[in-house]
Amino acid sequence: MRVALHFPKLGSATTVSVHCCPFSVANKLWDDHMTRGMPAGSQTTLRSHATVTGIGVHSGSPATLTLHPAEPNSGIVFLRSGIGGQRDREIAANFRSVIATEFATVLGDQNGPAVSTTEHVLAAVHGLGIDNAVVEVDGPEVPIMDGSAQAFVEAIDQAGIVAQQASRRCIKVLKPVRVGKNGSFGELLPYARGLRIETEIEFDHPIIGRQTYALNVEPAVFRRELARARTFGFMRDVAKLWSAGYALGASFENTVVIAESRVLNAEGVRFPDEFVRHKAVDAIGDMALAGAPLIGCYRSVRGGHKLNHAVLCALMADRSAWTYVEMPEMVRRTRGHAEVTGLAAPNYGPEVS
Ligand SMILES: [Zn+2]
Repeated sequence: MRVALHFPKLGSATTVSVHCCPFSVANKLWDDHMTRGMPAGSQTTLRSHATVTGIGVHSGSPATLTLHPAEPNSGIVFLRSGIGGQRDREIAANFRSVIATEFATVLGDQNGPAVSTTEHVLAAVHGLGIDNAVVEVDGPEVPIMDGSAQAFVEAIDQAGIVAQQASRRCIKVLKPVRVGKNGSFGELLPYARGLRIETEIEFDHPIIGRQTYALNVEPAVFRRELARARTFGFMRDVAKLWSAGYALGASFENTVVIAESRVLNAEGVRFPDEFVRHKAVDAIGDMALAGAPLIGCYRSVRGGHKLNHAVLCALMADRSAWTYVEMPEMVRRTRGHAEVTGLAAPNYGPEVS
């Protein structure tokens, strides 16, 4: 296989930091380690800036990505800069901005694509509970880094997370919405405890076969279980991908490369089920495009970016299938701990440093 090694190794596997819960309150639904003493339900942003530099996995183009703080209620916005004398373009990280889903989620507007492969940085931002940020990218594609969300988690840690003076508004799924095609399906289901992701993949390949993974998305769990799961690809597909203009920046440094009967990367896999975990990362990134934290369960069976987008569009198109909920209405805090009042409190919360 001609998997080009385009650049020196970016760095070996990094240590995953897990923040411990400073409290011990049994049977609560809202984990204090997710808010770390800050008001539950407050919006969050970054404390300062952080930058990562790399190449796009599909374009091969170099790009620098900078995470910036943003005002309350502004959401996640991509800023495409460095467009040769033209004006920077702002694209909301929203399902309405999706203009392509082949092998990556591409955002743009009526002027065409603005930034490609948005899913891993969005997964990190969403997975760590950040509501408002500007993601500036000075090239056509988010740098792939090591193929996982880890570099973006580290950048967020470097910038820090702060609570803002605004309550968080979530999108609560009220009834099931399902999209299926050719043996694949995706569905969003009511689920009271925040965002839950369930992914299943099945490949006719001895290295993968059928794998399933499920988790409730919380910052500590995202860091520990998902952030390091990398993009994967099959050697048998490479020639076709290259001729179609994809995977031009793919290498052993950013992709788990699967041959007939083995993984070709010298370091092997990071988890035995790294493949399905990565599918969960992609799903979290794509669900961030709801534009607000989802309270619901997203289940994907043999799906991908196209299906993720289709299900989110189907949900949002059915106004009876979801509603906005303000977090303070759902959680009352007493002596620093969350108490559940009436409705179950979502498990989705910011991790504020
Ligand atoms: Zn991915």
